[in-house]
Amino acid sequence: MRWSQTLIPTLRETPQDAEIASHTWMLRAGLIRKLAAGLYTFLPVGLRALRNVEQIIRQEMDRAGALEVLMPALQPREIWETSGRLQTMRQVMFKVRDRQDRELVLGPTHEEVITELVAREIHSHRQLPRTFYQIQTKFRDEIRPRFGLMRAREFIMKDAYSFDPDEESLEQSYRAMYDAYTRIFDRCGLRVKIVEADTGAMGGNSSHEFMAIADAGEDGLVECDACSYAANLERAERARRPATVSSPGSSPTLVATPGARTIEEVSAFLHLPPSRLIKTLVYLADGKPVAALVAGDRDLNEVKFARALGCTELGMADPETIRHVSGAPVGFTGPVGLSIPLYADHGLEGASEMAVGANQPDGHLIHVALPRDAKPVGWFDLANARTGDPCPRCPKGTLREMRGIEVGHVFKLGVKYSEAFQAIFLDAHGRKNTIRMGCYGIGVTRTLQAIIEQCHDEEGILWPASVAPFHVALLPLAPDAKTLQIATHLENALQKAGLESLLDDRDERPGVKFKDADLLGCPVRIVIGERGLAAGKVEIRRRNSRESQMVPIEEAAARVEAFLS
Ligand code: ATP
Ligand code: MG
Repeated sequence: MRWSQTLIPTLRETPQDAEIASHTWMLRAGLIRKLAAGLYTFLPVGLRALRNVEQIIRQEMDRAGALEVLMPALQPREIWETSGRLQTMRQVMFKVRDRQDRELVLGPTHEEVITELVAREIHSHRQLPRTFYQIQTKFRDEIRPRFGLMRAREFIMKDAYSFDPDEESLEQSYRAMYDAYTRIFDRCGLRVKIVEADTGAMGGNSSHEFMAIADAGEDGLVECDACSYAANLERAERARRPATVSSPGSSPTLVATPGARTIEEVSAFLHLPPSRLIKTLVYLADGKPVAALVAGDRDLNEVKFARALGCTELGMADPETIRHVSGAPVGFTGPVGLSIPLYADHGLEGASEMAVGANQPDGHLIHVALPRDAKPVGWFDLANARTGDPCPRCPKGTLREMRGIEVGHVFKLGVKYSEAFQAIFLDAHGRKNTIRMGCYGIGVTRTLQAIIEQCHDEEGILWPASVAPFHVALLPLAPDAKTLQIATHLENALQKAGLESLLDDRDERPGVKFKDADLLGCPVRIVIGERGLAAGKVEIRRRNSRESQMVPIEEAAARVEAFLS
């Protein structure tokens, strides 16, 4: 491709709304442009990279035996009623009306469409197992679209759905997708951690997320430094430390703490570290008030709390409820004498000499011991895991926190959708059975940006060769006929070797061409300059190295091939 004939609007400055590195580089390298919040146009070069990612995904899905289909983005609302998700996913759904005033949904995902299809088309064990996939546009009305393609309102997803006759077969289908995902991200040049993920209302230990490691990632995760345990922070467990049983000392004593409500304020006022305070957090679990107790230096994990409660809806109580159950304004609630069920973090078992809210305005209690002064209904793992916590799976390991970008998600669904849509088959004995399902997503556009988040430097992108929009940037420094002729010659030689190049034929200063080439980040750069040409040579440099070599023109293509293999 010739630069002068395409559209690559590179930018010298960092655009104002770019918050993370990859977003900046996508804009500056002229890969994408924003239309509105969470809506982006792919320009020619960005689209080439996207197609490369798609191609890798398609190849690995085909290799794993998945069958490509293409489902409508526009879906009748009735199928969402059937699954019950019209309600549960209402916040992210975009809806439209047709000329007959019928409501339609712009698909945020496709479990409903595929299960409805399978229920009609698959009836026998001979038609199972099957896995279907598509690469298609999804629509989600995200609360906060941000970071460019990372959290968009319209984005491309590869979604796959497996249909199996029994659990054992589902396990195999799940494994096949899991392995395909591992190969996909590896081929994309991404460093990913595979973590146990929360399965929400569905329960069980059957969901994994593929996290591209990056400080800018929206997800927290932990991994063990000794064994293979790794989990999303939402569900990461921590081992129960044996309680350090010190005999509780003095009994609870009321101290005045005027105006001190937050952990920081109370800690400063009482000259106690936050770890010696107990947070008493009042929640409504399916409408009933309950309290969670965690150490002052810990964060409550609401996912774990909901699981301990076994409730479906959990939310923080409003100030009015708090006042009603504790007799004090927000900031002074404590476990001693509180009449609602107390759920305590297991790290607090046997804790003594703690400070807690006194359930009266402007007061706290010190010298509090658990369970001596307040009896919880039980001890649970309620706090977020963090660096230094003991591993839940091995005796010696310690957990370490990291940030990640969720690029893929594999999930065993069981019969949630197949039951709703009556996806039934006849087994070998002629008996009716419900089909088991799994679903598997990759954020294709998010993956593309995650690659840039991991692969860039101060000057721009460092594309892995597998997804680079071009393998080679060809830079004729002078626009004279002879130089351009050599450049064209090289372009053809590279093409014969199966390598794609971007020929910068603009009438621009060398400095501009160098800067843009670094920005765009093609893995190899070939400079065709006057001095080299006099000796029949061109300069070859890898984007990720400072060293360059002068190579005879006729050897250039072979040298580039060697670099990229
Ligand atoms: P998240 O927790 O990031 O919102 P999710 O759990 O909603 O993700 P899934 O429904 O499992 O995501 O979708 C499959 C994949 O699609 C995700 O792993 C992610 O890579 C991608 N994805 C989800 N939401 C978006 C979005 N708003 N923009 C871009 N990609 C997305
Ligand atoms: Mg989401």
